[in-house]
Amino acid sequence: NEMLGREKGDSVLQAVAARLRRHAGIDGLTARLAGDVLCLATAGIESEDALAESAAQLLALFDTPFGIDGIKIELNARIGACSGSENLGSPGKWIEAAELALIDAKRVGGSGWRAYDPASTLRRARSRLLEAELRTGLDQGQFFLLFQPQVALTSGRLVGAEALLRWQHPTLGMISPAEFISISEANGFICDLGQFMFREACKAATNWPSHVSVAVNISPVQFLRGDLLSDIRAALDASGLQPHRLHVEITESIFVERSEELLTKLDALRDLGVTIALDDFGTGYSSLSYISSLPLDKLKIDQSFVRDMVSDPAAQSIVQAVMTLAHGLGLKVVGEGIENALQAEMLTAMGCEEGQGYLFGRPQSARQIQALSAAHSLLSGGHEASVSALAQAG
Ligand code: C2E
Ligand code: MG
Ligand code: MG
Repeated sequence: NEMLGREKGDSVLQAVAARLRRHAGIDGLTARLAGDVLCLATAGIESEDALAESAAQLLALFDTPFGIDGIKIELNARIGACSGSENLGSPGKWIEAAELALIDAKRVGGSGWRAYDPASTLRRARSRLLEAELRTGLDQGQFFLLFQPQVALTSGRLVGAEALLRWQHPTLGMISPAEFISISEANGFICDLGQFMFREACKAATNWPSHVSVAVNISPVQFLRGDLLSDIRAALDASGLQPHRLHVEITESIFVERSEELLTKLDALRDLGVTIALDDFGTGYSSLSYISSLPLDKLKIDQSFVRDMVSDPAAQSIVQAVMTLAHGLGLKVVGEGIENALQAEMLTAMGCEEGQGYLFGRPQSARQIQALSAAHSLLSGGHEASVSALAQAG
């Protein structure tokens, strides 16, 4: 329609329908369900193989361009399919199943097909359910923060805690951020959650000693859609927390679009006095030259490298290189996901300043963090053991 106008658009639809009808033969049934969604029902497709073969034949119908008034038009087709083996009952259910599969098929570009997948339908249903419950959940106080200790690696002393969001749903139980953050990002609700996080995190930190900071994760969507700066300012004002004690964690995914606006916002955050950390470093598409131009204070090495470092020399080299790079740029380095003393020891030997992980503590309540801050060191006894393990590992 956009390229050739509606009249030719109609002709294209008719040409596609004609090809489909010819393919269907006298036993098949064809229909138009909506705008550009056509439907074909054929008898005798009972197995997965038969479904795949049938879908391939349908796609092949689009190999030859369509000729409309002497213009050659190439079309892509996406197919959602389901077979008789699904036992779906009424014809209406069959069409629904095929349309659900079509949603999956449309996720990828170009031509292609997907079979109906009940699991994917369940996932989508759960997503929709969670999405519908987010607002009520926040209003009714079902969201809360846990805090995971961050320590200075040489002394084992608590220097900060990362705020991690939790959702305790009354009937669904505990829902992981891995599940609800992406849903909240998709519909923009993450900005409301963000407001809540900043407020709660700043408030909690005011009860901790002044050398203990609090880190809050920020999603790229908050940068693009929310009024991040005023949310942060409001949280700092309301709590009275000194801005340098608030750390924000951003991920590399934020830099997919290298916008001026983003840099301006980061600079403004820095001007507020807030500390900026780059989270999950190494998992994204870090352009090293780009990182040097960003207003960063800290770099968090992703837990996958910390995990592999002990057994994989390549991972160890990467960690060492990242350390050199970060220090060259004047950034502090935090090792994430430290689970054992050997990992802590290796990172310390490489010059890593701070660490976070189950070795020092799981995510816990603000009160527990307050109690931990009184401890002399969170490096639990494994120090000597790890030194000898390190010697053995060469
Ligand atoms: P992240 O920011 O990289 O947070 C660290 C995640 O690693 C946390 O999972 C934490 O519990 C887990 N972790 C910490 N130490 C260890 C360890 O030693 N071993 C292992 N295996 N895991 C460890 P969690 O709380 O499930 O959070 C997952 C992700 O969800 C976070 O990754 C973050 O990206 C996102 N997230 C959590 N809370 C928030 C939030 O308040 N706002 C936003 N935007 N994202 C959040
Ligand atoms: Mg984080
Ligand atoms: Mg992380």
